Amino acid sequence: MNVGVRYGFAVGSVAFLFGNFIACGAQMYRVSLTDDHNAAQVSIEATDPNSPAFGLHSPHGWVKLPIEFKVGNSMDPEQKSGLLAAMKTWEIATGKTLFKYIGVQDGVDGDSFPDLYSSLKDAVNGQYLDANWKKTGKPDVVLATTIWNNSTHDSAAISTADIRFNVQGYVLGNSQTLKGAYVEATGQFKDPVDMQTLALHELGHLLGLAHVSSDMDAVSIMNPYVYIGEGLTNRHVSTGDIERIQKIYGCEGAVCDVDKALDAVLEFSKTDPTQTAAH
Ligand SMILES: [Zn+2]
Repeated sequence: MNVGVRYGFAVGSVAFLFGNFIACGAQMYRVSLTDDHNAAQVSIEATDPNSPAFGLHSPHGWVKLPIEFKVGNSMDPEQKSGLLAAMKTWEIATGKTLFKYIGVQDGVDGDSFPDLYSSLKDAVNGQYLDANWKKTGKPDVVLATTIWNNSTHDSAAISTADIRFNVQGYVLGNSQTLKGAYVEATGQFKDPVDMQTLALHELGHLLGLAHVSSDMDAVSIMNPYVYIGEGLTNRHVSTGDIERIQKIYGCEGAVCDVDKALDAVLEFSKTDPTQTAAH
């Protein structure tokens, strides 16, 4: 039981933001994702279980598919493979090609932008790492944040989006092998976070999904929290997530049967993310 020792480093300022982390023997805890997007962009219908738009912040999805995206220039191969595997999961859930990788954004990453929303001003849908997370204005414990513009022609559709990942406070990669890191200069311990798990949630926002409370769907990847730590992953979506993403994008082929889609998603979640190739 060394949780207490580890929390000695950081507990003073951030403990209040953690949920009920699991103590005793388990080196993991629950981190809130409530603040990982701009709640003002999510309509009240998204939280109303009786609304057809429940769980959807942009029910019309993207104005154009596939979503062409670039990655920031400091993303390493392990992080990138986790990201691509998360994209693939949403594609399996719909049977559609949703994403198209168009390369590394030369010389640019999260730190290139003066603040959070300025990265939306370029024409690139970017997947960025922020080593200087403070600049985003988000609290230190926030793992990542998804920002998007709705179309000027259709406020229920998305025209551009970025994801900014917090690598100042966390180590992102494959949590099955990843270790945390103690930063001597700051006395801070950076916990390991599974990139594929985190990206799956953030990409849900990027595609148009809102948070879904655990009361409504206990196994949704869009629950507003995530468990992090060594060895911890949640690399699949729920039946409800599949229904909601298909409500936006429709479906193609066998996965129009949501049970078959769930089987395919679960099967894929067992694969090594490094086997996912970009397309
Ligand atoms: Zn979220």
